[in-house]
Amino acid sequence: MVSVRVGPRRRTRSILIKAQDGVPPTREEAYHLMEVEGPDFWALIDAASSIRDRYKGRVVTYSRKVFIPLTNLCRDSCGYCTFVRRPGQLGAHTMGEDEVLAVAKAGRLLGCKEALFSLGDKPELKYLSYRRWLQDKGFGSTLAYLRHMCALVFERTGLLPHANPGVMTEEDIAALRPYNASMGLMLENISYRLLRPGMPHHRCPDKVPRLRLATIEAAGRQQVAFTTGILIGIGETAQERVDSLLAIGEVHRRYGHIQEVIVQNFRAKPDIPMWNHPEPSLEEMLKTLAVARLLLQDMNIQAPPNLAPRDYRLYLHAGINDWGGISPLTQDFINPEAPWPQLRELREVCAQEGFQLRERLAIYPEYIRKPEFVSQNLWPRIKELVDESGLVKPEAEGPY
Ligand code: SF4
Repeated sequence: MVSVRVGPRRRTRSILIKAQDGVPPTREEAYHLMEVEGPDFWALIDAASSIRDRYKGRVVTYSRKVFIPLTNLCRDSCGYCTFVRRPGQLGAHTMGEDEVLAVAKAGRLLGCKEALFSLGDKPELKYLSYRRWLQDKGFGSTLAYLRHMCALVFERTGLLPHANPGVMTEEDIAALRPYNASMGLMLENISYRLLRPGMPHHRCPDKVPRLRLATIEAAGRQQVAFTTGILIGIGETAQERVDSLLAIGEVHRRYGHIQEVIVQNFRAKPDIPMWNHPEPSLEEMLKTLAVARLLLQDMNIQAPPNLAPRDYRLYLHAGINDWGGISPLTQDFINPEAPWPQLRELREVCAQEGFQLRERLAIYPEYIRKPEFVSQNLWPRIKELVDESGLVKPEAEGPY
């Protein structure tokens, strides 16, 4: 039964009917959908919602996490980044063991299950002072330090690490795997245009799309449940968004390891080079989410609620089924101006829209059910936390 409203043009209608029957749009059809307006736009949103309902039901998930910004040094300098600092600059910081453990323990007390390690990409290749700092602590690289901290946090607190350290080799991923429930790297966008002078990834060696795709593929070979996604509104075209979503879908078809696809909207901030760059509109965000749902069908699609505080309920209607990591303790260090909604508020908004909010772990239920994706070190803790659905047992959920 097709749920599109009367009104969309014939071409749009036939693409939406097909997609609701499980046949994703072709590239050209997805380009068309990115341009629709009026009744066609709303028919697209309805179709995305019905596809999400078919595969995911009316349950929407989140992960209760602490955010651990291990170091905000980075060898890249993306035009939209508010996180990065140079050594000696106000706010430059690398967390020591005690600091990391203090955050993780406080998070555990608040019911968190995930430790999200987010950090700059290979700063030791750019900054001698930082390289010496690592060497003094006995580490040859940021990734070696990260691996040590992931193991320590898990062993001391039981929080499940999720590392997001930038571009990695397959060996790097294999080394991090034993103490990570999942890992992540945003593809961001597959367009090489964004590396040109004046574009956000100019002189950012780790933003070369080929390298990012290679990392995502290497995670697939290592059977790591993996998070990736796109960043919209940074100068890419609507077609390049589609190309990026298709590239993610293609890697997933080969390895089956992409546990979630994030669609994140650029937010302008006063302290970034792109301070006066226009933000993507709500309509663009909804359209991108809906097209992602049509293209990726049964995959998990996530949008962060704190980057559209007034409008995030509409994301549910555009086909998402996950809100990502939400912290009762630490701020979003990538978007520090954007507080997360209170969990109680999020639960109420979901209920008003007809959804049940459930807590998940850093590894999605689909991957908990596949032993090849679960590190044996972490398995006893994972098993202790989830019910038969693979989501966190209601009695283990933290307070709302
Ligand atoms: S967005 Fe990531 S890679 Fe780019 S400068 Fe910031 S920390 Fe570095």
